[in-house]
Amino acid sequence: MNTSPTPDLNGIFAYIDNNAQAFLTRLVDYLRHPSISAYGEGIAETASYIADVMRGIGLAVRIMPTSGWPMVLGEYHVRPDAPTVLLYGHYDVQPPEPLEDWLSPPFEPTIRAGRLYARGVGDNKGQHFAQLLALETLLTCQGTLPCNVKFLLEGEEEVGSPHMPEFVQAHRDELQADLVIISDGPVHESGQSIISFGVRGVLDIELRARGANRDLHSGNWGGVAPNPLWTLVHLLSTMKNERGEITIDGFYDNVQPLTDLERHALSSLPIDIDEIQRSLALHHLDEPRERGYFERLAAWPTLTIHGIHGGYGGPGSKTVLPHEAIAKCDIRLVEAQTGAEILEKVRVHVQRHAPKVSITSYGSMDPSKTPLDSRFTEPLLQAITAAQGRAPLLSPAMGGSLPSYAFTKTLGIPTFGVPYANADEANHAPNENMEVARFFMGIKTGAAMLSYLGRFTL
Ligand SMILES: [Zn+2]
Repeated sequence: MNTSPTPDLNGIFAYIDNNAQAFLTRLVDYLRHPSISAYGEGIAETASYIADVMRGIGLAVRIMPTSGWPMVLGEYHVRPDAPTVLLYGHYDVQPPEPLEDWLSPPFEPTIRAGRLYARGVGDNKGQHFAQLLALETLLTCQGTLPCNVKFLLEGEEEVGSPHMPEFVQAHRDELQADLVIISDGPVHESGQSIISFGVRGVLDIELRARGANRDLHSGNWGGVAPNPLWTLVHLLSTMKNERGEITIDGFYDNVQPLTDLERHALSSLPIDIDEIQRSLALHHLDEPRERGYFERLAAWPTLTIHGIHGGYGGPGSKTVLPHEAIAKCDIRLVEAQTGAEILEKVRVHVQRHAPKVSITSYGSMDPSKTPLDSRFTEPLLQAITAAQGRAPLLSPAMGGSLPSYAFTKTLGIPTFGVPYANADEANHAPNENMEVARFFMGIKTGAAMLSYLGRFTL
């Protein structure tokens, strides 16, 4: 692989500065289109709107059906020996409710104090629109792109991407690329840009224990009929100990230890644990206490009980012996665990400790991780630094879950998160917003990333 000299981005950045107002006006127009995947409002119209924008820029565009809302795929091919970048985003948004909490209507974009307020501005329209404008800028200024581009916009991200894995599997040849860049979510709390290399996976389960065929009087039947709430409490206590270790057999077998690079990156992320504890009114973090803050989120799986239900929970007391008890749980997975593997291990564990308890799985997403020493890390780092004047932080994995494994595992493509939105973007909440300056910086960052990646000859 060869690299050519550092790209000169001054002309590109000047063009973006000179056209900033027009770019902003076009984003505002896009944001006026509701596209609420939860109940389908405006989805078809918005898919065709953004497909037209992509066509106008010069991409070859297809609206591709799935069993749910469609994907929009745009392509621009430059030459076979240039890297191919797959840019992923989503054109759907969260429902805007509660409407009364918005200071300005969610689909009437409004600027206040340097921020643009609208549903979907940060999550994710403002971010992928910035990428599209980066393509437009490069095409206008240079007549071509520095590398091959595939631009994939999903319409169901806000409802959990239910058809993403099968879509990627079915179109694996058309989606082949050398790297994936996802601009979604916020930058670091400090305001500093970040490159994120992974996400944790998640497995949702429900445990259900049954006792008698009806609720019973605890005096007449206590000590005679088994109590399903105790069955669940005993079972759950065999799954995690007081030291914070998950005690399901073989649970940690596939957990990959952190590499030195990852350990170093995690310890370089700024954090004020005292402030976090203060803001949450906590005296200490969860066990095991010796673990670092970001190490907990990036490198370790969890078993969380969302709720235990059964019997009586109303005012006063009711001496009931419940007939059924339910525990809802999620397990956050880290590289290289899989949802299928851990579900099977939970089944075996429950079979051994409480064979009458039934397990229901509500689906899973596998974790995803791209190595920090990927050959694309350095050009992305340089590009972000060139566009923003400051090097980004590197995050080996975020605590939450996204279907990035469809790219890293199904397609085998290194995947990088490069978010543009401010940390207080209020995504999913009323008064969602994006700092206007971050939108412009996103356009510059997008143009810089493609330019630096274009230096590679494969
Ligand atoms: Zn979202």
